[in-house]
This record gives sequence, structure tokens and C-alpha cells, in this order.
Amino acid sequence: MNIYDNINVLKGVGPKTTEILNKLFIFNIMDLLLYFPRDYEVISLCRNIDNNKTNQKVIVKCRVQKIERDIRTKSGKVITTILFNSGSNYFKGKWFNQPYMKNNFRLNNTYTISGKMEQFNHELFIMNPKVLRERLPDNAGQRIIPKYTLKSGISNNSIMKLIAYLLSNIKIEENLPKSLIEKYKLLDLDTSIRTIHNPDNFKKLNQARRRLKFQELFTYSLKLLMLKRRTLNVSGMGFRIADDLIKLKNSLPYPLTKAQNKVIREILMDEKREKTMSRLVQGDVGSGKTIVALISIFNVIKNGYQACLMAPTEILAKQHFIEAEKLFESFNINIKLLTGSTGKKEKDRIKDLLKVGEIDFVVGTHALIEDDVEFKRLGIVVTDEQHRFGVMQRSKLTNKSRNVDTLVMTATPIPRTLTLCLYGDLDVSIIDELPPGRQKIETRYVSKINKDKAYNFVLSEIEKGRQAYVVCPLVQENEVLNITSVEELFNDLKNKYFKEESIKMLHGKMNSKEKEKIMEEFKTGKVKVLISTTVIEVGINVPNATVMVVENAERFGLSQLHQLRGRVGRGKYKSYCILIPDVKNDIIRRRMEIMESSNDGFFIAEQDLKIRGGGEVFGFKQHGEDEFLISDVVEDIGIFKFANIEAKRLIMSTDERDLRIKEQILDKLEKTSRFICFN
Ligand code: ADP
Ligand code: MG
Repeated sequence: MNIYDNINVLKGVGPKTTEILNKLFIFNIMDLLLYFPRDYEVISLCRNIDNNKTNQKVIVKCRVQKIERDIRTKSGKVITTILFNSGSNYFKGKWFNQPYMKNNFRLNNTYTISGKMEQFNHELFIMNPKVLRERLPDNAGQRIIPKYTLKSGISNNSIMKLIAYLLSNIKIEENLPKSLIEKYKLLDLDTSIRTIHNPDNFKKLNQARRRLKFQELFTYSLKLLMLKRRTLNVSGMGFRIADDLIKLKNSLPYPLTKAQNKVIREILMDEKREKTMSRLVQGDVGSGKTIVALISIFNVIKNGYQACLMAPTEILAKQHFIEAEKLFESFNINIKLLTGSTGKKEKDRIKDLLKVGEIDFVVGTHALIEDDVEFKRLGIVVTDEQHRFGVMQRSKLTNKSRNVDTLVMTATPIPRTLTLCLYGDLDVSIIDELPPGRQKIETRYVSKINKDKAYNFVLSEIEKGRQAYVVCPLVQENEVLNITSVEELFNDLKNKYFKEESIKMLHGKMNSKEKEKIMEEFKTGKVKVLISTTVIEVGINVPNATVMVVENAERFGLSQLHQLRGRVGRGKYKSYCILIPDVKNDIIRRRMEIMESSNDGFFIAEQDLKIRGGGEVFGFKQHGEDEFLISDVVEDIGIFKFANIEAKRLIMSTDERDLRIKEQILDKLEKTSRFICFN
């Protein structure tokens, strides 16, 4: 079996399963090996059943003592019951409306059963117990069961079986240099992969995770350094400072901040140089990155070149487009908006005009760079990223636009050490100042029992003519749940509080037309309360919105909360953020207090780092979306630093063996979009 073989080479994987696996971003053998559990569940293996096991998941060996007669309840349900004997105690297995279940059992035979042990009226029972076919190890203890992210049509058990089958048919070769394995006492790759899918104990599981994290961060660093080599000293175009630049600056409705001016100067210097620019601009939410981007773009256009601005979502692209049109109104610049919802005819026309150079500036979504869009003389590509900007994307971008200046704007405030590890290939500019007169967003956290107060406050703001956001987290159990969690909240709030108010919800499963319509209604003030998961376009600008309520606030990282909060406080009104954590403990309380006390994104990021330091055990990752499979760059900064140092050493080394290793690893990195790759 080959790592790159299609998943359907596995026994039992037909077209239907293939389709479902594909939806989970599993296409080949390697993808399946790298489909790491999102969490683990501990199940007790019991010799004996006793009351101590109540409310625990158990696996227990037991004998059928009695198959009872089915009972029909008043409501018409059929209850099937079997009495089991385990060691010195009895418990019952019960099923609703599945009378055929008893056919699976024979009197006096022994079975291995799993389920959650419950107790009612001094009686122990398991609802819907499952029979396990596998043999139990002889000693009692714990079993760690992996939990995978699922899609309807595939169960956790099927994934476990598939992976077990795969692992029994494959041997994974080591692919890190031996010296590194020894130096950092890393578990070998084969064991690590086996362990992460089927851990014997937590100690070994943690070793496996550490090894895989190291590998991921090491190869990430290698890729980054390679990218740096590629972009360094690539000759580019030199753009002189355009005459109209002063005129443009003078036309602004506000003076630029010192920080904005500093960053603009840095960018203009880059543009002037006959080398390509690769610069990252970091600036807290609301620090005014858009205008910085537009000025940099303006200068390139006035030098006779074309520019392209990419936003993560259509709504943001449109917002930028409108702002650019306004700003460049009297400067004779031809601007067009190109997104997924641009009609085919219009799209073709825009593409044609870009090709011949009739359009100076195109604003759009990422599709812009993926598509077959051609420019006559592209001078600069600006990406407005709300989230972290992936190295894979970067590498795609440099491949597409050699000799073109690239600028990336990010609102994710990250600590400096992390910046070096994550963005070592870019020059970094920081806008470390907000425009004057910004009011602090008053932040409060309230416990669930005081929800009423929170929403009554929202009502009072709406009475004043303001608007509100309500955010709730994505539940990642399965995709069906995602909607219901927003829907539930929506119905709940609509019935309880916002009867007469116009309240709408927004979620990831809506198409962009629907979303846009609702956003438009919110912008114009027709909709007063907008409920959504974090799919709300984080860069959205509705100055009349003054309150944000965050439900289940404990589920968000502090930096993320800070970003979300940046949706309010954008106008002249005093603004508020109300955090409602669902659970309470010291760490959560401390985290909420940090949000209350600070409005400084960088400070919050540092604090987040400190508090998190090893706190959370298993993070939840979304497969296929996140750049890192297993590493949490914030939490794993310790490993990251060493991985970075080692990658640098390898890249610089002229030792023949190192050269060979380097070549091998980089070659594999080219073949996959994952940082964990195989021989
Ligand atoms: P972000 O950095 O989050 O992308 P924006 O570029 O959207 O921030 O700017 C937020 C708001 O601040 C916008 O309404 C913009 O017009 C305004 N703004 C930008 N720079 C200044 C400034 N120097 N003085 C006053 N307002 C500014
Ligand atoms: Mg922005």
C-alpha cells in the first residue's frame, strides 16, 4: 500500500464511503493516517460492576442471567430488558422499541458489553448497551477511545476500524534525521501514528503528540525558510512616490495616526526598491489598516501598474470596494469588484479588461488568485486576512505573482516570539496605535443566571436606536448541530426578548446571497439584532451597532474574543461587550477579567499565551481547514522555538548528509499540503 493511494484501495471502502471520507478531506491513505482524533474518551474496563461506576462509560464482561419479557408502556413504547450478571453484581440492559435486540443474546452466554452505567431506584442499568466483538485484556483498567470528527453516514467505530485495518497493513518509515530524534528524545514516527489513533496510556499519547507536533513545526519552519530564500532578492519593480499621493492624503476626512504614517513609509520604501516586497502589516482591529492598504495600492497604480486586493469574504470585499471607490473618486482610477457572485458575463468582461490593462484595480475574494485571472502588468497584491495567513497560501501567492509586491494585512495580534516563528519569511510592520477618540468598549462578563439582565440591557440599547450582535460558538460535534445551536438560541431569544424587534440569524450553511441580504438589512438598520456563529464577517463595519453578547464565551480564545468585540465601538456611541460563559472556574474567570480590563489586542494575546500555557489538554481542530493538524502555535511555542532553530540549522548546513535530508524533506513537502508527511 502506498501513502498516496486513493482511499478506496482499503478493504470495505466503496464509492459511498469514499464520498463521505472525501467530505472529511480524506482522499488518500496519508490523509487517513493523519486524521487525528479530535478528543479521547476514557472507558473503564470492569471486572466487577458496583455503584461506583454510576454515570461512567464502562466495558464489562458479563453473563446473561435472564431475558425478561418485553414491557409495553402506556405511551406505546416497547421496553426490552436483559438482566446481566457481572462478578458479584447485577445490572440491566435496556432498549426502547428494539425488541429484536434480545435475539443477539443467549441465556448463560458471556458477552463483553459497553455503555454508560446509570442508576435509578437502586437499580443499575445501561441504555442501549453495545456488544463488543473484541476480546478484553485480562486486567481491569482503562481504555482510551479516540473520538473522531464525524459526518453523517460514518460512525466513530467505522473510522476506528478503517484505521486499525490500515495500521495492520502498513509500516511507516522514519523520516526525521536521526540526530534530531535522539537529541529531543522523540518517539519514532510509526509508533507515534499508531499511538495517536490507539493509545495505551496518556503518557505515551503525550509522547506521540509531542513528536508529531515537533515534526509539524519543524517542517513548517523549513518551508518558511525555503520561501524566504525564494523571495529574498528577487528583483522587482521600483515604484517612485507618486505626485498625487499628497493630494490623496489631504483628501482624507481625518489625519493619519503616527503609526499609520510610519507603516505607510515602510511600505513606500519597499515599493521604491527594485526588489519584491513581502510585508506583513499587523494592527489591532480598528487600527485603520484599510487606508494603509489603499494608499500603498494608490502609489502603485499611479506608477502605471495594476493592483489587486483580496478579502477573506465577499461581504468584506464589497466593503473595501465601496471604500476604495469613494477614496479614489477624483483620481481617475478604474476599479472593479470581482467575487463568486459576480455574474458570468460581467466576470468575463472584467477578466478581459484586466488582461488588456483597462482596469487599474480589482477587489475580490481569494478566488481571484486561484482563478485564471490574468493581468497586463500587476504591481501589487494585497491580502486582507482576518485570521492567520497560512504559509501554504503564501507559497501559492509567491508562485503566482513572482516579481510582484505582496502585502498582507492581519488583525491577529500575536506575541513577537511567535511572529518570528510564524512569519520569519516576511518583513513585519506594526500599527500599534488606534485613531484618537476611540472609546473603550465596556466589557462585562455575567454568569448564565443573569442572562436576563444582559438581554434587557440589549433591549434598552435598541430602544435608543442602536443595534446588537449575538455570537455563539460553533459546535463541532457534527455539522447538523452547528445550525441547531444558532437556531435554538435564535428561537429562544426571539420568544423571550425580542418579540417586536427585528432579529435575524446568520450561519455558515447559508449561501452568500442569503447572507448578504441579511447583512445588508443589518447595515441599513432594518434588522436590529444579528445572531450568528463566528462566521459573521469579522471585518464588518456597522457603526450603529453598540452591543455584542457572546454566548459560551469560555469556548473562544481571548484573542478571538477581542477580534469579535471589535465589531462594536466603530461609531460615535459608547459600546458594550457582554460575555456569558457557560461554565465557571478560576481560569475562565481570570480570562474574562482580562477581557474586562484591557482593550489592547497585543496585551490580551500575551496574557492568553500565559494562561493557556499547557492548560488546555486537547484542542479542537477542524480538519482540512486548519494549517496545522496537531500543533497549537500558541500553546506549543516551546516546541516551535526549537523546531525553528533546528530548521534554520539544517537549511544553513553545508554538510553533505544534511543537504540530502533537506532535499528529501522539501521534496515531500512539495507533494503535500501537510507539514506532516511520510517517506
Ligand atoms: P481595521 O484595521 O480593523 O481594518 P479599518 O481600516 O476598517 O480598521 O478602520 C476602522 C475605522 O477607522 C474606519 O471607519 C476608518 O475609516 C477609520 N479610520 C482609519 N484611520 C483613521 C484615522 N487615522 N483617524 C480616524 N479614523 C480612522
Ligand atoms: Mg480590516
